[in-house]
Amino acid sequence: MNNDILKTLYSEEDIKQACKKLGKQISEDYKGKTPIIIGVLKGAIFFMTDMVREMDIYTKLDFIDVSSYNGGTKSSGSVKLIKDIDIDVNGQDIIFMEDIIDTGRTLKYLKELLADRGANSIKVCTLMDKPEGRVVEVKADYVGFEVPNEFVVGYGLDYDGKYRNLPYVGVLKPKIYSDQ
Ligand code: 5GP
Ligand code: MG
Ligand code: MG
Repeated sequence: MNNDILKTLYSEEDIKQACKKLGKQISEDYKGKTPIIIGVLKGAIFFMTDMVREMDIYTKLDFIDVSSYNGGTKSSGSVKLIKDIDIDVNGQDIIFMEDIIDTGRTLKYLKELLADRGANSIKVCTLMDKPEGRVVEVKADYVGFEVPNEFVVGYGLDYDGKYRNLPYVGVLKPKIYSDQ
């Protein structure tokens, strides 16, 4: 699997430092509150579990799953809800955990969904942000890394369902796509 990677963008150590920084910042910003952290499956799982363990305030955790990419490298443009959360978000402070924000469509859909359900506040924490890819206007409140417009894999992010278990974030060799 490591042989398929052209270059490493963020090492395990880089990611650990980002989780520490964000966990500390979120703990300060939400002092005295119990935010609900919602992980967007499946890409955000590793980032979520590592980041929340750097927080020292109460939180509740939940997960949501949406699809927009259909397994390839290009966005399909439509977002579909696959798995909903269990928690009632009415009056609650929400923090979405994302792996990466590209077009912004997923996040826009998710923010509207929970706003309609009466959430008190909705913020977004993403490991990576690709501002050049934006199609709809949406902003992340907490960002680990701003990335160039490249397709990345690892640490939760997949290509064709694979590579999520790489412990770092990297770029695939072009031959991997052309072999498909
Ligand atoms: P958006 O709706 O912002 O275009 O896309 C959000 C989702 O698309 C991300 O949560 C992620 O699952 C997927 N995505 C966007 N860019 C990349 C990328 O560079 N690599 C991978 N593996 N997934 C991506
Ligand atoms: Mg995602
Ligand atoms: Mg994907």
